[in-house]
This record gives sequence, structure tokens and C-alpha cells, in this order.
Amino acid sequence: LPKGSNGKILRVDLGKETIDKVEPGEVFYRRYMGGRCLSLYYLLNGLSPKADPLSPENILIFATSIMTGVPVPGTSRYNVAAKSPLTSGYGEAQAGGFWGAELKFAGYDAVIIQGRAKRPAYLWIHDGEAEIKDASQIWGKVTGEAEDIIRTDHGDHLIRVAQIGPGGENKVRYACILNECKHANGRTGMGAVMGSKNLKAIAVRGHKKLETAYPERVKAIAKLFLDSYMDNPSNKGLQLYGTSELVKTLDEWGELPTRNFQTGIFRGAEKISGETMSKTILTNREGCYSCPVRCKRIVQAQVPYEVDPRYGGPEYETCAAFGSDCGVDDLIAISKANELCNKYGLDTISTGAAIAFAMECYEKDILSEEDMDGLEVKFGNSDAMLNMIEKIAHRTGIGNTLAEGTRIAAARIGKGSEKYAMHAKGQELPMHDPRAKFGLGLAYAISPFGGDHIQAEHDIDFDFQAPEIYLEQAKILGISERLDRTDSSLKKVRMFYYLQNQFSFMDSLCGCLFAFAPVRTIKMSWLTDLLSAITGWEIGLWELMKLGERGTTMSRIFNVREGFTSKDDKIPERFFKPIRTGPLKGARLKKKDLVQAVRSYYRMIGWNAKTGIPTREKLYELDIEWATQYLKSTY
Ligand code: SF4
Repeated sequence: LPKGSNGKILRVDLGKETIDKVEPGEVFYRRYMGGRCLSLYYLLNGLSPKADPLSPENILIFATSIMTGVPVPGTSRYNVAAKSPLTSGYGEAQAGGFWGAELKFAGYDAVIIQGRAKRPAYLWIHDGEAEIKDASQIWGKVTGEAEDIIRTDHGDHLIRVAQIGPGGENKVRYACILNECKHANGRTGMGAVMGSKNLKAIAVRGHKKLETAYPERVKAIAKLFLDSYMDNPSNKGLQLYGTSELVKTLDEWGELPTRNFQTGIFRGAEKISGETMSKTILTNREGCYSCPVRCKRIVQAQVPYEVDPRYGGPEYETCAAFGSDCGVDDLIAISKANELCNKYGLDTISTGAAIAFAMECYEKDILSEEDMDGLEVKFGNSDAMLNMIEKIAHRTGIGNTLAEGTRIAAARIGKGSEKYAMHAKGQELPMHDPRAKFGLGLAYAISPFGGDHIQAEHDIDFDFQAPEIYLEQAKILGISERLDRTDSSLKKVRMFYYLQNQFSFMDSLCGCLFAFAPVRTIKMSWLTDLLSAITGWEIGLWELMKLGERGTTMSRIFNVREGFTSKDDKIPERFFKPIRTGPLKGARLKKKDLVQAVRSYYRMIGWNAKTGIPTREKLYELDIEWATQYLKSTY
């Protein structure tokens, strides 16, 4: 077995109240390595196609990787996967924080959860032991209260708790899972799946020391990180202002999603920026396990809204989703929205986007004040926005419709509202406008989760204005020339394809993109060195790129089984219309360019050029020939 891993996966059936251990062996660990690939292996082989994602049949998997928990920056993350109630396809979300490392210290690499508990339950995993515990005392509680009760009951304030809030209990389709009340497995509704299983939390505590094959080499890479961290120009801003340093930049470039993506400039951008946050409500910075970057924000405020620092501070996506996209220029209101989402366990991107959708419906007279339970849900109304979060979390009034996600909500509301539902494959779009970056449009179209901005590094990082170091660090991936951000040629498709392979293998390795190349500090050659030093295997970049492709292709197989076709690889019509104002006035995507790029992408990755279904040969090439059985009818 590789060093650095436990070789053990916990399998829990909540309905049958059984717990057992799976020990899949070295070949399995080498082929799948953790996170995305590990989860997809168990989902494809354990879950019947067309299962209701909110039924006991769905399988929920928490997975770390072969590098989670080693004392090197960026190794804190873990992946949660299941069939998504938001998209009805493959769902997954990653979080940093401390939970992933703690699970490894408790003796397990992953937890597979099946069935539904008869009554509210939580899982207690500690030093190799696992128990299903009664959660009636914490069901209905917000995350902070539930975490306090679990820690007090066990008399240990270092227990790490991954949990849902009332949003997940009420099966809001974009409910999330949080650890430390602020690190979210945000997207694709994994919190709703957990709620449907009557599972409130997984609490973990362990004291095991992870053994690595060459500890001195591991230590040397951690030191390299510290020594060269400030050589990279992007790190200073991240440390000082967090991810919300992007607000001002994107506004200046004219691509800050504003009023439900109607435009790309926002008059209040300065007021909701990372810089303003640092000068006003920022009280501290925090990080994840073993990471000195500390890019997470802690904020506090009293008026006009009281904001509790326990729930962290808003990141870029949250600042834009509740700020510019809802037309709100009040940073304290945005911080309150962040607090509410973290208390109730709601994804901030989808929640903000759902409210922005409702605001546009109100603006266009599709929804009236009466439809909105007497609230004037217009762009810029922060009180109404905060009220809507409460309604969504508790599924009251119009909140019950918005809790279904914008795709279903628009279908229910009708009256042409569909064109204001900014989603891809049912998942709300994150806060990046593809009219400004073609590769991102391609990512939204072909992503297994639809609206997802971390399929690949964005075009701006390799355009003609990008810092030299990014391209330098990407050359090892086969990216050797800059391309304009709006370039839609085959060269752009190739760039995307290579970068997607890299991002995909990072999702199996559960690495943080703010710590690793091509844009950040840990170069790809250090990563392969690190993995070899941890495991004792000789790992190269070719093997990792294949791991990335394996993850992308396995998620495609999952979606094909669920009935997705190439017709689902699309983005909202709004992006084919010009941006109305600002520096990018007139910019739009051309549909035929996007369709062509999607087709070219299928060919490059080895899927059928017309249908987008992975070929039989491709599955053999990726060493997953067992998966041909799931596509039999299509060959
Ligand atoms: S860079 Fe930021 S998000 Fe990533 S592991 Fe470090 S502190 Fe966490």
C-alpha cells in the first residue's frame, strides 16, 4: 500500500445501521488516487442509473487523496460526490479547512454512505472507530450551534465537523456541506443529498501520524513553497485581499457579472471589493490545514446588520453573487448573506444567482410584489435579499420555488422567465462572464456539472497581459504560447483540454488551486516529486494527465447513463447577445464557434465526435475498460 494513505475506506449503510471497511488495494489507489476518480468508481459501480438523487438509493462519498493531510500547503482538501439533485448528473464539491486531514488521522481515506437513517443521525469517526449516533438534539440547529453541541458532548474542541444546516435538512437543491462553519463543499447540492439521508453531520477526530516514504523530501518541498511564495506576483494580493481582490479587476475589465449578468460593470464595485473589506470589516485572516497562505477572510460588523465572525467572510464568488449580480453595493449586507448561507448550509453562488434571477423577474414584471410574499425584490434591495435567503433555507413562500434552483423555478414560473435563469445543466453559473473569455464558455458547456468555473484555468491567465511566470509554469503541460482571451480557434480548444486534464487530476488529488501551478506556487515538477516522496511510487506528469482524463471521462459516462446528450452541452442564450455597457460593450459569443469548439473538444479527448459519448477504445486507453458495460447500448 502507498505510504501516506490508510488503505481503508469506511462504508456505512444508514438504513441497515451497518458499518464495514473496504480495503481496495494498491492498484486501486494508483489508478484512482482519491477525490473525483475514487468517488466515480464507487458511484458508477454502486448506483443504478436514473435513481432519484434524494432517495435512499443515492450514494454519498466523502473522499480524500493520497496526499491529503501531509504537512505541505494546499493538501487540506476533500471531495464530496453523489448524484446531484440540482443537475441530475454527476455532482461533486471540494472544500478546504481541516476535516479532510482529520479523517486521514482518524484512520480512513474515504467514507461511502448509503441508505437513509430512520431518524436524524450523525456519524462519529474517531481513531479507527466509527459509530452512528442520534442527532435529534442537533437536527434543525444552525451549523454553529450543532458544532458546539457535538464538541461539548464529546469533550473535545478539536473535533472536526462536516455538516449540513437547515437548508440541507429541507433539501434545498443547492444546499452545501460545511466544516468549521465556513469551509464549504458548496456546489451541486451535496448538502441536500446528506439531508435526504437524515444525516446531519460527520464528526471526526484522530491522532494517527501519517507515514510518508521519504519524509525529508516532503519537508523540503514544504520549505521550497515558503522560500519561493513571494516570487509569484499573484500571491500577495491573495494574502492581502483574499479572492475578492478580483471584484475591482473584473469591473475595470467590464466583466463583473452585474444584475443577473445583464452587464459587466457595477457602479458600487469599489464598495464591495477585497480592498474595501480589508480597510473596514476585516478582523482576521484564516487558512486551512498546514497552509500559510491564509487566504480566507474573517469579518465582523454591527450595523446595519450584525455579522458574526464565526462564519468567516465573503470570497469573490459571494461578493459578486450577492453584490453586483443582485445590484447590492453594501459589503456588510453581503457579509450578512454569507453568514446566513453558512449558518443554514446554502451554496452562496446558487443562492445569490437564484435571488438575482428573482430580481430580474421582478424587474421584467414576471413576478409581482404579491408573488414575492410582499417583498420588493428589486435589484439593490439588500433587506429583501437577506429575507429571501431565510425563505429559501426554510422553503417558505416564493423561497420554496427558488429552493429548487433556477431551472426548475423558471419552468414553474413560466411567462418567459426561462431566459433569465442563468444556469448550465441546471446549476447556476458562477460569477464569470464567458463573453470575456471563450475557454470559460467552453468549460460551462462541457462541464459535467454545468455552471462551474474551476474546470480549467481561465483564459486571462494565458492571454497577452498575463504575468510571464504563469506561461513559464504551464509549459510543462504542453502550453507554449499565449492566446487572446476571446480566441475561439482549435488552439484554444487544445489549451483548454490540457488545462482541464490538469484541473481534473487536481480534483482527484484534492489539491488547492491557490497553492499549485500553473498560476500559483507549487510547480508541477515539485508536485510529482511530492507525490513520489509521499507514496514511494515513481509518479510522473504523464500519469497525472491520464488521471485527469480518466476523471473527466468517468464523469461523462455517469452523465450519459443518466440520459445526458451533446444537446446538454450548452450555455444560456444571453451570452450570444452583446454586453450592453462598459469596456466590453458589444462583446458576445458566437453560437457556431462554441458548437464547433465543443465538437473539436470531443475529438481531442477521444469521445464520439457527434454524440460526445466516450468511445470503447478510450475506456481501454484510460485503463477503465470495466466501464464499457455502462455504455454497451451506445456502441
Ligand atoms: S491557499 Fe487558501 S484555500 Fe488554499 S489551502 Fe491555503 S488557505 Fe486554504
